[in-house]
Amino acid sequence: MLVSFEGGCYCSNVRYRISLDHIKDAASSLCHCRNCKKAYGGDFFAAVRVPVNTFQYTSGKAKLHAKDNGSGVMVNREFCDNCGSNIIEYSENVQDTYRYVTIGSLDDPSTFRPEGEIFIKNRLDWVPELPNTYQKYEDD
Ligand SMILES: [Zn+2]
Ligand SMILES: [Zn+2]
Repeated sequence: MLVSFEGGCYCSNVRYRISLDHIKDAASSLCHCRNCKKAYGGDFFAAVRVPVNTFQYTSGKAKLHAKDNGSGVMVNREFCDNCGSNIIEYSENVQDTYRYVTIGSLDDPSTFRPEGEIFIKNRLDWVPELPNTYQKYEDD
């Protein structure tokens, strides 16, 4: 059964739709790494991973920023160049397979609940562990 979700940036210039064959094709997680803190200006990055062909922009055009993550892997981030909201992220390793969509940009951010946390070695000490989720010291 097809399930779809919509979202967009703060100023609504950029809008997108995720169309999944099955809800289980999506997987959510929190990342506590230093790069995500910098990129999103937050205490962690909450994302839902979806197959690349299930994500499409429906209006506006996001701006791409690409940077080496420090380990020789290029990480792409797309954001609204008017209001700055981050929309998606994908490293070069997964750019043909997945998009990581910012949970906060979904019209209903409660749709996807993180199943685990990664890079917990960089968790800020005032951010509590999510109960009943997997916990990864780095990313594997
Ligand atoms: Zn915007
Ligand atoms: Zn990260």
